[in-house]
Amino acid sequence: MKNNLADTICALATPAGTGAIAIIRISGPEAFTVIQQVFETAKGRKIDFENIKSHTLHFGILTNKETIIDEVLISVFKKPHSYTTEDTVEISCHGSVYIQQQVLELLYGLGARPAQAGEFTMRAFLNGRMDLSQAEAVADLIATQDANVHRIAMQQLRGGFSNEIKKLREALIHFASLIELELDFAEEDVEFANRKELKKLVSGLQFTVSGLLDSFKYGNVLKNGIPVVITGKPNAGKSTLLNTLLNEDRAIVSEIAGTTRDVIEDELVLEGYRFRFADTAGLRKSEDVIEQMGVERTLQHMTNAAVIIYMSDATTFDKETYEADLEAIINNIDFSVQHLLKVMNKTDQVDVKKLQLEGKLADDVIYISAKSKTGIELLKDALLNKINATSTGSETLVINARHAVALQKANEELLNLMDGITNKVTSDLLAFHIRQSLYHLSEITGDIYTDDLLENIFSKFCIGK
Ligand code: GDP
Repeated sequence: MKNNLADTICALATPAGTGAIAIIRISGPEAFTVIQQVFETAKGRKIDFENIKSHTLHFGILTNKETIIDEVLISVFKKPHSYTTEDTVEISCHGSVYIQQQVLELLYGLGARPAQAGEFTMRAFLNGRMDLSQAEAVADLIATQDANVHRIAMQQLRGGFSNEIKKLREALIHFASLIELELDFAEEDVEFANRKELKKLVSGLQFTVSGLLDSFKYGNVLKNGIPVVITGKPNAGKSTLLNTLLNEDRAIVSEIAGTTRDVIEDELVLEGYRFRFADTAGLRKSEDVIEQMGVERTLQHMTNAAVIIYMSDATTFDKETYEADLEAIINNIDFSVQHLLKVMNKTDQVDVKKLQLEGKLADDVIYISAKSKTGIELLKDALLNKINATSTGSETLVINARHAVALQKANEELLNLMDGITNKVTSDLLAFHIRQSLYHLSEITGDIYTDDLLENIFSKFCIGK
């Protein structure tokens, strides 16, 4: 990835295609020189962009030699008061693809080069306007499809997460300074830093880091959509339930999804949570090879699911097989991160009260009829309750896998550090673990970065962001 800040870059910032208006951004040292050459006001005056106020709007025409390309509105942002902190111009033109192309080619001809994916945001990072985790929040914010991820990404963009990391780093730096003082006096075998105090400090840091790490389990699920698996015997009514769930809210789902994808068949947004549904075969061991493969697939789906809905059929209910199936499912659930919801379907066909009294139905299940759509609200409430129970309640949630990996590494170093203090290792070894831990925290905020890392992060952005 080129990241030469001396270049002036430009790109379409609105989606490719026809729209009412399109916005084309120019950023860099020559942004004003470039626009100056091709823009004049409605009254035919040239504007001295270098010497006008920042954050002003100018209406006029863009011309290529004698040809008028469009009537446009120019927004002016002077450094450092722009997204990239550089001189920036935004051209709002009519949103035809032809006009967009003409404007871009005009700008290329004047020496502005096409921006790469994420290059504006990368400049904002390189110029110190935001740290790396904030830049990543920009991508999450653009991709957001539901209220929860929106809230978390917004909080991260506004520096909430960065502040947590900053506090951790400060504590470690303080710690390092105490230990490094001892290094100066290594010959004399003195201990400036009270070991008991140090342990307290490290365990406080461990507590915060593992809390953040834990939040990733939940945050990751929220960000990618909460995976829900519906399992049960063939014909229990799993597909019918899926259809019932999706059809009811399809209007809402497709309205949100329509902007990003063509069809979404298995996603449902409930109270700001995005659920991803899949139905699968049952779980019991079978001699049949094909069925065996189905079981394997179910197991795989189940491992990745946050919620498992086990559906049984009230019309063919048999307690013994039900309990055997349930046991097989329970044996494959990690209850520390997964939830189980038991559902009894086709209750429109049986007398639930009577069967209950006779002890012929299962306990602790939600009674529904997928076909006649009864009990569906109860099921949705139960689903939401399970997810709300997982919520850490903390404002800061880690939703980025890269951050989770770095936190994991920092955590390992904190563990080494704690062990080191307990085992009375030398101060230089303690200092080493502190530096390592600091290094991994710094990777999150981008206080330490490599070009490959930036490439990796920003290449996933849209062009024009
Ligand atoms: P799956 O194999 O578990 O996906 O089951 P399906 O959803 O294909 O349903 C199997 C059969 O049960 C179909 O004929 C459905 O119409 C029927 N069915 C599903 N849910 C209900 C229900 O709540 N009541 C009744 N009476 N029939 C249902």
